[in-house]
Amino acid sequence: MTKVEKDKVVEIHYTLRLSDGTVEDSTEGEPPLPYLHGAGNIPPGLERALEGHNAGDTFTVTLQPTDAYGEYDDEMVDAIPRDAFPDETELAEGDEIWLIDEEGNETPGIIERIEEEMLFVDYNHPLAGETVTFDVQVVEVRDATPEELEHGHAHDQYADEWDEDEDDEDWEDDDEELDEEEDDEVK
Ligand code: ZN
Repeated sequence: MTKVEKDKVVEIHYTLRLSDGTVEDSTEGEPPLPYLHGAGNIPPGLERALEGHNAGDTFTVTLQPTDAYGEYDDEMVDAIPRDAFPDETELAEGDEIWLIDEEGNETPGIIERIEEEMLFVDYNHPLAGETVTFDVQVVEVRDATPEELEHGHAHDQYADEWDEDEDDEDWEDDDEELDEEEDDEVK
Protein backbone atom coordinates (compact mmCIF):
# COMPACT_ATOMS: atom_id res chain seq x y z
CA MET A 1 0.00 0.00 0.00
CA THR A 2 1.17 3.44 -0.83
CA LYS A 3 1.59 5.60 2.22
CA VAL A 4 1.54 9.36 2.50
CA GLU A 5 5.03 10.77 2.08
CA LYS A 6 6.85 13.52 0.19
CA ASP A 7 5.97 13.84 -3.51
CA LYS A 8 2.78 11.78 -3.25
CA VAL A 9 -0.54 13.20 -4.39
CA VAL A 10 -3.04 12.61 -1.62
CA GLU A 11 -6.81 12.99 -1.84
CA ILE A 12 -8.54 13.74 1.43
CA HIS A 13 -12.01 14.40 2.70
CA TYR A 14 -11.93 16.79 5.60
CA THR A 15 -14.07 18.87 7.89
CA LEU A 16 -12.46 21.95 9.42
CA ARG A 17 -13.91 23.13 12.74
CA LEU A 18 -13.11 26.16 14.84
CA SER A 19 -12.52 25.85 18.59
CA ASP A 20 -16.20 26.65 19.32
CA GLY A 21 -17.24 23.71 17.11
CA THR A 22 -18.39 25.81 14.14
CA VAL A 23 -17.81 24.02 10.84
CA GLU A 24 -15.71 26.42 8.78
CA ASP A 25 -15.16 24.26 5.71
CA SER A 26 -15.82 20.71 4.55
CA THR A 27 -15.53 18.52 1.48
CA GLU A 28 -18.77 16.77 2.43
CA GLY A 29 -20.92 16.36 -0.68
CA GLU A 30 -17.98 17.40 -2.87
CA PRO A 31 -15.06 15.53 -4.44
CA PRO A 32 -12.11 14.95 -2.09
CA LEU A 33 -9.35 17.57 -2.08
CA PRO A 34 -6.15 16.50 -3.86
CA TYR A 35 -2.88 18.04 -2.65
CA LEU A 36 0.83 17.44 -3.20
CA HIS A 37 2.39 16.15 0.02
CA GLY A 38 5.54 17.93 1.18
CA ALA A 39 4.91 21.05 -0.91
CA GLY A 40 3.31 23.23 1.75
CA ASN A 41 -0.08 23.22 -0.01
CA ILE A 42 -1.94 22.62 3.25
CA PRO A 43 -1.36 23.83 6.84
CA PRO A 44 1.95 22.48 8.19
CA GLY A 45 0.43 20.66 11.18
CA LEU A 46 -2.10 18.92 8.95
CA GLU A 47 0.62 17.85 6.55
CA ARG A 48 2.66 16.41 9.45
CA ALA A 49 -0.39 14.58 10.81
CA LEU A 50 -1.01 12.96 7.41
CA GLU A 51 2.56 11.66 7.03
CA GLY A 52 2.66 7.86 6.98
CA HIS A 53 -1.09 7.33 6.69
CA ASN A 54 -2.66 5.01 4.11
CA ALA A 55 -5.78 5.27 1.97
CA GLY A 56 -8.80 4.48 4.11
CA ASP A 57 -7.35 5.92 7.34
CA THR A 58 -9.39 8.43 9.30
CA PHE A 59 -8.15 10.64 12.10
CA THR A 60 -8.78 13.91 13.93
CA VAL A 61 -6.11 16.48 14.67
CA THR A 62 -6.30 19.79 16.55
CA LEU A 63 -3.81 22.45 15.50
CA GLN A 64 -2.59 25.55 17.29
CA PRO A 65 -2.43 28.69 15.10
CA THR A 66 1.30 28.30 14.39
CA ASP A 67 0.65 24.84 12.92
CA ALA A 68 -2.46 25.99 11.08
CA TYR A 69 -2.97 29.46 9.56
CA GLY A 70 -0.51 31.45 11.65
CA GLU A 71 -0.87 33.81 14.59
CA TYR A 72 -2.87 36.95 14.08
CA ASP A 73 -0.34 39.71 13.37
CA ASP A 74 -1.31 43.32 14.07
CA GLU A 75 1.59 44.41 11.86
CA MET A 76 -0.20 42.90 8.89
CA VAL A 77 -2.85 45.60 9.02
CA ASP A 78 -1.78 48.44 6.74
CA ALA A 79 -3.03 52.01 6.61
CA ILE A 80 -3.40 53.18 3.03
CA PRO A 81 -4.53 56.70 2.06
CA ARG A 82 -7.84 56.81 0.21
CA ASP A 83 -6.27 58.92 -2.50
CA ALA A 84 -3.89 56.06 -3.43
CA PHE A 85 -6.93 54.76 -5.36
CA PRO A 86 -8.72 56.43 -8.26
CA ASP A 87 -11.72 58.50 -7.11
CA GLU A 88 -14.16 56.35 -9.04
CA THR A 89 -13.05 53.16 -7.28
CA GLU A 90 -15.74 52.12 -4.87
CA LEU A 91 -14.28 51.03 -1.56
CA ALA A 92 -16.24 49.65 1.36
CA GLU A 93 -15.48 47.87 4.61
CA GLY A 94 -15.26 44.13 3.97
CA ASP A 95 -14.08 44.53 0.36
CA GLU A 96 -11.14 42.48 -0.84
CA ILE A 97 -8.17 44.27 -2.35
CA TRP A 98 -4.80 43.00 -3.54
CA LEU A 99 -1.40 44.20 -2.43
CA ILE A 100 1.22 43.84 -5.17
CA ASP A 101 4.84 44.07 -4.05
CA GLU A 102 7.93 44.94 -6.12
CA GLU A 103 8.36 41.31 -7.22
CA GLY A 104 4.78 41.15 -8.44
CA ASN A 105 3.57 38.87 -5.64
CA GLU A 106 -0.09 39.43 -4.89
CA THR A 107 -1.45 39.24 -1.37
CA PRO A 108 -5.19 39.45 -0.75
CA GLY A 109 -6.32 41.87 1.93
CA ILE A 110 -9.66 42.86 3.36
CA ILE A 111 -10.67 46.45 4.07
CA GLU A 112 -11.16 46.20 7.80
CA ARG A 113 -12.36 49.77 8.33
CA ILE A 114 -12.35 53.18 6.71
CA GLU A 115 -11.58 56.24 8.80
CA GLU A 116 -11.60 59.68 7.30
CA GLU A 117 -9.22 59.43 4.37
CA MET A 118 -7.48 56.23 5.44
CA LEU A 119 -8.22 52.59 4.65
CA PHE A 120 -7.09 49.95 7.12
CA VAL A 121 -6.38 46.75 5.21
CA ASP A 122 -5.93 43.39 6.93
CA TYR A 123 -3.59 40.94 5.17
CA ASN A 124 -3.84 38.21 7.81
CA HIS A 125 -5.22 34.87 6.68
CA PRO A 126 -8.95 34.76 7.51
CA LEU A 127 -8.23 31.94 10.00
CA ALA A 128 -5.09 33.49 11.53
CA GLY A 129 -5.07 33.13 15.31
CA GLU A 130 -7.58 30.26 15.27
CA THR A 131 -7.05 26.89 16.88
CA VAL A 132 -8.65 24.51 14.39
CA THR A 133 -9.60 20.84 14.28
CA PHE A 134 -9.54 18.70 11.15
CA ASP A 135 -11.46 15.45 10.77
CA VAL A 136 -9.63 13.73 7.95
CA GLN A 137 -10.29 10.71 5.75
CA VAL A 138 -7.46 9.66 3.42
CA VAL A 139 -9.16 8.66 0.16
CA GLU A 140 -6.29 8.00 -2.21
CA VAL A 141 -2.48 8.14 -2.31
CA ARG A 142 -0.58 8.04 -5.60
CA ASP A 143 2.75 9.10 -7.11
CA ALA A 144 2.85 12.69 -8.34
CA THR A 145 3.41 13.22 -12.06
CA PRO A 146 6.53 15.12 -13.20
CA GLU A 147 4.28 18.05 -14.13
CA GLU A 148 2.71 18.14 -10.68
CA LEU A 149 6.16 18.12 -9.07
CA GLU A 150 7.25 20.95 -11.33
CA HIS A 151 4.15 23.03 -10.54
CA GLY A 152 4.30 22.22 -6.82
CA HIS A 153 0.62 21.24 -6.60
CA ALA A 154 -1.73 18.40 -7.47
CA HIS A 155 -3.71 18.18 -10.69
CA ASP A 156 -7.02 16.42 -11.13
CA GLN A 157 -9.80 16.50 -13.71
CA TYR A 158 -10.27 20.19 -12.91
CA ALA A 159 -6.56 20.94 -13.17
CA ASP A 160 -6.75 23.36 -16.08
CA GLU A 161 -9.17 25.64 -14.30
CA TRP A 162 -7.45 25.22 -10.97
CA ASP A 163 -4.13 26.44 -12.29
CA GLU A 164 -5.79 29.75 -13.10
CA ASP A 165 -8.41 30.13 -10.45
CA GLU A 166 -7.96 28.05 -7.39
CA ASP A 167 -6.52 30.73 -5.14
CA ASP A 168 -9.16 33.27 -6.11
CA GLU A 169 -12.00 30.85 -5.54
CA ASP A 170 -10.72 29.78 -2.16
CA TRP A 171 -10.54 33.36 -1.08
CA GLU A 172 -14.02 34.25 -2.28
CA ASP A 173 -15.52 31.26 -0.51
CA ASP A 174 -14.22 32.61 2.76
CA ASP A 175 -15.44 36.17 2.39
CA GLU A 176 -18.60 35.96 4.40
CA GLU A 177 -17.10 34.23 7.40
CA LEU A 178 -14.23 36.65 7.24
CA ASP A 179 -16.40 39.67 7.87
CA GLU A 180 -17.65 38.17 11.09
CA GLU A 181 -14.23 37.13 12.27
CA GLU A 182 -12.78 40.54 11.77
CA ASP A 183 -15.47 42.07 13.88
CA ASP A 184 -14.52 39.70 16.67
CA GLU A 185 -10.78 39.90 16.46
CA VAL A 186 -9.74 43.31 15.35
CA LYS A 187 -11.87 45.81 17.19
ZN1 ZN B 1 -0.37 23.07 -12.25
